[in-house]
Amino acid sequence: MEQPSLEMIFGNYTAWEAKEGTWFINFMNGSENMYLLEGKEKALLLDTGYGAGNLRAFVEKLTDKPIIVANTHYHPDHVAGNREFEEAYMSEGELIDAPSVEAPGAVPFDLAKLPHPDYKKIWLKDGDRIDLGDREIEVIEAKPAHCNSSLFFLDRKERMFFCGDDLESAQVMLFDNSNNPEAPYDVRERLENLKSNSQRMKELGTEYDWLLPNHNGFPIAKSYIDDYIGLVDAVFGGTAVIEDELNHPFVEMDPKAPELCRVRYKKASIFIKKAEVMKVYGKGE
Ligand SMILES: [Zn+2]
Repeated sequence: MEQPSLEMIFGNYTAWEAKEGTWFINFMNGSENMYLLEGKEKALLLDTGYGAGNLRAFVEKLTDKPIIVANTHYHPDHVAGNREFEEAYMSEGELIDAPSVEAPGAVPFDLAKLPHPDYKKIWLKDGDRIDLGDREIEVIEAKPAHCNSSLFFLDRKERMFFCGDDLESAQVMLFDNSNNPEAPYDVRERLENLKSNSQRMKELGTEYDWLLPNHNGFPIAKSYIDDYIGLVDAVFGGTAVIEDELNHPFVEMDPKAPELCRVRYKKASIFIKKAEVMKVYGKGE
């Protein structure tokens, strides 16, 4: 059988309008998605995939509005396609997470060949607002948990909350995945941040109906938030379930995989280094 090309795996998009002016763009055989939010004047593209080189043309067929690009966080499957555009908005935490994208071999495409390899990076801060014309998207800075560069986006008008990779149905990666040896990592702090980020999502819960992660199904029930809060408590309380088997073919290819474990509580699950999580497992809060 012929092997599928990289474009077929990483750059083969489907899209549907889930609500008037809101597009879900799906790729990686359904495991990953991006969002296109249209206002009266502009459209916001949240994340840009792996940099296959064919996203912009695809998105420009969905909207005739000028496109603003913003990133939920600076990981290769979310930002590599930024180079198809002149500029992109993101967290300043990109400075720490950049090697996850820019180290040689970090993405399966030659990003230097994209039209704007030196595109402009513009940092967003907590409380910033992106005005699309009769539709405003609010920026919420997350504390370092899944990575060092996460932003959440809240659309109060259309009642949607975009939580990136910091909460999802399959598992949140909570090990250091920055590819940066200088990156700070403290296991207790990461877990506490996962909890406080989740608590912030919960507090804002009256402002949205759809909770929209970037992987493994969307929208997801708000009860996932309670389960992730509970997971952190269950780690510190020593009652969370620890499994050595990851059951994730892609992460199992990572050289870090033998050191990782899966930690479960109800519907919530994380991947984390076992030696790290055992430092705080059952050690109280
Ligand atoms: Zn990520």
